[in-house]
Amino acid sequence: MDTPPLADALRALGDSLRYWRDMGLGELPLAADYLASPAERLRLQEQALQGCQRCKLSAGRSTIVFGSGNPNADLVVIGEGPGADEDQQGKPFVGRAGQLLTRMLESVQISRETDAYILNVVKCRPPGNRNPEPDETEACSPFLAAQLAAIQPTVILALGTVATQALLRTKDPIGKLRGRVHPYGSALLVPTFHPAFLLRNPGQEYKRMAWEDLKLARREYDRLHGR
Ligand code: URA
Repeated sequence: MDTPPLADALRALGDSLRYWRDMGLGELPLAADYLASPAERLRLQEQALQGCQRCKLSAGRSTIVFGSGNPNADLVVIGEGPGADEDQQGKPFVGRAGQLLTRMLESVQISRETDAYILNVVKCRPPGNRNPEPDETEACSPFLAAQLAAIQPTVILALGTVATQALLRTKDPIGKLRGRVHPYGSALLVPTFHPAFLLRNPGQEYKRMAWEDLKLARREYDRLHGR
């Protein structure tokens, strides 16, 4: 028998409310699209972001790099902010670091297009590829939270110090945070080294640790999906 649309809608609403509760929110605005599909919610969020001037990064950007991949994916990959290639093409992780990220994901049988959604903590390119500053990360954080609420991933792969520290609200270095799983709302967060860092450090030691982290993320993903 087909599921009645009302039951679908109520289930989607329940999922959203539980997600927001787990993220620590006690109150929600009524004017939000809690019942729309993840793809539609992301589309509306991206539309609403156009022309954003909430932080100083807006002055130097060409494009707002919102995110790419499958809005229904159970895995979200989070980087720090777009670089020059991403700023030009409007898509995250398309430069050299992005090519390495694609290979890292593929090494654990994850396709960046169909199995993951990829986004950044800040959506506009920091000048000269510097790290995003705390006020910029803070200004963009409601958009990151809204993206995660739309996608509702079960596993989050956080790339590098900036993204991991911003998400976990800690100052601990990545070397201390990686190698284990951190609870993050109703998801699990696995930190690893940023692919740009791995490109700068050709030694095998960091690559081996990143490989362990990817296998950990894959194991958690499989475990949560009963595989
Ligand atoms: N580095 C990031 O953190 N994000 C990108 O999109 C590209 C490079």
